[in-house]
Amino acid sequence: MSTFGSDGSLPEDKVLQAPCLTPIAQLMSDRMVDIYIGDERKKFRLHRDLLCERSEFFKASFEGHFKEAETQELALPEDSVESFELLVGWLYGAPLMKITSEDDWSAYLNLIILAKKLCLKHLQNETMDHVLNFYRTCLPEVSADNIRSMYGNTSAGDPLRRLTISCAAWIAVSNKTTVFDRDVLDLLEGGGEIAVDFTSWLAKLYTYPVDPRIYLNCFYHEHISTPSCIEWYE
Ligand SMILES: [Zn+2]
Repeated sequence: MSTFGSDGSLPEDKVLQAPCLTPIAQLMSDRMVDIYIGDERKKFRLHRDLLCERSEFFKASFEGHFKEAETQELALPEDSVESFELLVGWLYGAPLMKITSEDDWSAYLNLIILAKKLCLKHLQNETMDHVLNFYRTCLPEVSADNIRSMYGNTSAGDPLRRLTISCAAWIAVSNKTTVFDRDVLDLLEGGGEIAVDFTSWLAKLYTYPVDPRIYLNCFYHEHISTPSCIEWYE
């Protein structure tokens, strides 16, 4: 019997609390900034007050002592257009939609990384909830490339690492894999944090075979500057 609801959520899970934000209508001044995304430098002209009120990163960029404050322009060449479009929609009040494809999944993973960089903690956690719901309804194949990408863009202890590596280990354990494919072996032979985390989760899941997707959403949230959704008991 499935432990997950039809939408992938857990019935006993707590809802992520939205922060109190200044209404968008009060942030629609005529002060605009230009942001260029990706190698193709796709241009987005956006309301400066909205960006700076929502994100400490944008506030430091456009109101601080960097050249961006003079030019009112910012380039983010390493970020994807798809993820930035999701971010812009969210900033202007559009809700994040349910993930329905692996293309969406990839964009949402990158949105989590982008939201963290921009100090948008609520968006980071909200996007993680959508990824969790997708994993619970349709666990995608977590490839070695996907793991390397997630580790390359995050630091130790990051919830995105926790979700990625635990699901990769769960796929190996639940498939009763005794022989790993070449990509996974390369991961382990490469050593470092990936090998340590993957081996640690493998050992844990072989000992206690519990699907890591069953943990409450907050297990995969980051709450450094926001209250936790639940009380944790040691
Ligand atoms: Zn939480």
